[in-house]
Amino acid sequence: MFNKILIANRGEIALRIQRACREMGITSVAAHSTADVDAMHVRLADESVCIGPPRAADSYLNIPAIITACELTGAQAVHPGYGFLSENANFSRIVSEHDIAFIGPTADHITMMGDKITAKETMKRLGVPVVPGSDGAITEDEEAMRVAEEIGYPVLVKAASGGGGRGMKVAESRADLSNALSTARTEAKAGFGDETVYLEKYLGKPRHIEIQIMADSHGNVVHLGERDCSLQRRHQKVLEEAPGPSITQAERDEIGMRCANALKEIGYLGAGTIEFLYENGQFYFIEMNTRLQVEHPVTEMVYGVDLVREQIRVAYGEELSFKQEDLIPNGHAIECRLNAEDPHTFAPSPGTIQRYHPPGGLGVRMDSGIYAGYRIPPYYDSLIGKLIVHGRDRPECVARLRRALAETIIDGVETTVPLFHALLDSPDVVNGDYDIHWLEHWLSAKLPGE
Ligand code: ADP
Repeated sequence: MFNKILIANRGEIALRIQRACREMGITSVAAHSTADVDAMHVRLADESVCIGPPRAADSYLNIPAIITACELTGAQAVHPGYGFLSENANFSRIVSEHDIAFIGPTADHITMMGDKITAKETMKRLGVPVVPGSDGAITEDEEAMRVAEEIGYPVLVKAASGGGGRGMKVAESRADLSNALSTARTEAKAGFGDETVYLEKYLGKPRHIEIQIMADSHGNVVHLGERDCSLQRRHQKVLEEAPGPSITQAERDEIGMRCANALKEIGYLGAGTIEFLYENGQFYFIEMNTRLQVEHPVTEMVYGVDLVREQIRVAYGEELSFKQEDLIPNGHAIECRLNAEDPHTFAPSPGTIQRYHPPGGLGVRMDSGIYAGYRIPPYYDSLIGKLIVHGRDRPECVARLRRALAETIIDGVETTVPLFHALLDSPDVVNGDYDIHWLEHWLSAKLPGE
């Protein structure tokens, strides 16, 4: 096994990876910016090395600095976490060229799935159902009109290189389409340096359901069921749960096997998530993430496995420690993303944590790097922790989540904790009865004029 792994990330996920390393007897190195000297993942690290100034472009995205840090510390592998360089094919390639193991898939697989058009074509060819839409990129408005008539309005214009919910525009009718195309192209060019767009049927009331896959280099590919991540604001996930409240065991087996078979066919390695929209009993592929997801803990709680440990094992060349038949979902888990944000306006609220009391007790897991006296730097994402709760069934899980939220004390900055209290007062959330548009509607009804 590796002796030493460098963690090219920060915050709760850096700590999460550090914990897996420690349990496996692996030394970990926290590669951090000058803004994170006092961060928990640096304070608790076996070793730490500064890779640059606060701006992510100069530190957490600084490939030469990260490679140098590996060489200086003798790290044999790099775990990229999520975000930052985790889906950067160039990084994966450069790391490998330096004889350092990249804990993730190959550069070719990252490239294949990073372009949404190629990803969609590949999945379709491998027997995974996709959202009806254009065959590849759309360059001419005429062609877009023809495809839109065929699939029916409303349609969604999406950026091939898009991410984080950006570069997407809905066209309700033919009159809107030219405008949607040019706005999406401009946003895509500005945001991703690539103006390629494609067209998809816009689904009215879908749920966001994603399948977790793990693959080793011995031909074993398994699925760990689904997560429902439909509660979203501006296409960003807010609360995630497993299993999906609307998914049956037969559906899980069917779509899970299709995903596992598809990734086996292309020789995929490591953790991956295949995202679908789900409407009227049908799954429609939208994209694949070639990395660990923020919401991976709900799957861990339901299946009783450590996904980061498995990532490390398979990157070293070991076999997965479980087979498909060992993976039986148990109970229910929900994750709330705790952000340092105003719970009404969602404006970031960096500052110093004055008091901190994490919740505890049976079935409660808090993945967070905050502590009393910690100054949240203004340079990064506003996620400060994830509260994950497990129960024997969904009602028990919901009751436990309410209880855990009530115990949570984070003073000094605004957080989204009150948002989750309010959400758990809604019968739709309690009953698991929501689609991807539910949260936006609920927020606008709650806050007129927002
Ligand atoms: P990104 O990479 O930006 O996250 P995705 O393709 O994963 O983009 O889509 C993000 C979210 O946008 C989805 O979870 C869903 O809420 C919405 N979305 C994407 N495609 C469609 C579609 N065809 N119809 C309706 N909503 C969609």
